Amino acid sequence: MEPNDNADGLVTAIHEVGVIGAGQMGGGIAHVVALAGYNVILNDLERARFDGAIEIIRKNMTRQVSRGLIESDEAEKAIGRISFSDSFKAFGDSDLVLEAATEDESVKRLIFKDLCPHLKAGAIVGSNTSSISITRLAASTDRPEQFIGIHFMNPVPLMQLVELIRGIATGDPTFTLSRAFVETLGKTVTVSEDFPAFIVNRILLPMINEAVYTLYEGVGTVDGIDKAMRLGANHPMGPLELADFIGLDTCLSVMQVLYEGLADTKYRPCPLLVKYVEAGWLGRKTDRGFYDYRGDTPMPTR
Ligand code: NAD
Repeated sequence: MEPNDNADGLVTAIHEVGVIGAGQMGGGIAHVVALAGYNVILNDLERARFDGAIEIIRKNMTRQVSRGLIESDEAEKAIGRISFSDSFKAFGDSDLVLEAATEDESVKRLIFKDLCPHLKAGAIVGSNTSSISITRLAASTDRPEQFIGIHFMNPVPLMQLVELIRGIATGDPTFTLSRAFVETLGKTVTVSEDFPAFIVNRILLPMINEAVYTLYEGVGTVDGIDKAMRLGANHPMGPLELADFIGLDTCLSVMQVLYEGLADTKYRPCPLLVKYVEAGWLGRKTDRGFYDYRGDTPMPTR
C-alpha cells in the first residue's frame, strides 16, 4: 500500500473512519460513511449502544432497499464494514475520526484528550458539535491544524447538507480533504465561520426556543403551535415536534452556547425547556418530551 500521508504528515486519502458516539447522529454517520464504502469503527461507552445503533441502521437501510435507493447486498456489505470498539486504541489506523458524542464541552474535551495519543500523526479529527466553538475544541487536541467541524444534519441518511466549520487554526489541506470526503458521501457542503451554533442552528434553535416560550406563556398549546407552523409557515414539522426529534437536551445545550457565546438576552433558554430536560423528558429518544411517544400515536404532554 502507498504511504497515506504527504510531506506535512497529513493523510492524503481517507480509507478508515472512526466515529465516537453511537447515538442518533453517530449511528446515522456510520450508516452513510459505510454505504459510501469506508470501513467504520463505531465507539461508545457500552456495547449496548452500538447494538442499538446497528439495529436502527439495519432498519433504515431496509427502508432504502424497499424504496429502490440501494441494493440489498450493498446494505449487507455496508453493515459488515461497521465494527465496534469500546476503546480509542482501535483508532490507530483511522484517517479521520468523527466525534458525535453528547453535546457537552467537558465530555468532548475529555474524549479528545484520551483519543489523540492513539491516533496516527496525520489523522484528521472532525467534530459533529451543533454549537461548540471548533477553535476551542481544537485547542484541546494535539492537532488544531487537523481539526475541523463536520456538522451533519439529523436524520443523517436523509438530510442533504453538511456544514463545514474551520477553526482559527484549521489548515487548508484538512479543509480540502474533509470537503472531498463529505462529497463522496453524496452530501452538499456549506461553509460556516466558527461562531456559536454556526448557520443552521443559529437560525433554527432560537425559533424552537421561541416556540417553547409561546407554550410557556400560554399563547398556544403544543398541538396548536405545531399546527400553526406546519400549516401557516409550511414547515414540514412543527417546532415542538422538531425539538423532540433533535433531543431537548441538545436544544438546551445549543441555546446555552448561544446565550453565553453571544451574551445577548434574546437567546435566553426558555425555563420550560430547562424543566423538561430536568425531568429527563428529552423527546423521542426517551419516549417523552413535548409529546408522549409511549402509545400508538404521539400525545401532547401540555
Ligand atoms: P445522543 O444522546 O443520541 O448520543 C450521544 C452518544 O454519545 C450516546 O450514545 C452516549 O453514550 C455517547 N457518549 C457520551 N460520552 C461518550 C464518551 N466519553 N465516549 C464515547 N461515547 C460517548 O446525541 P446525538 O443527538 O447523537 O448528538 C451527538 C452530537 O451530534 C452532539 O454534539 C450534537 O450536538 C450533534 N448533533 C445533533 C443533532 C440532532 O439533531 N440530535 C444534529 C446535528 C448534530
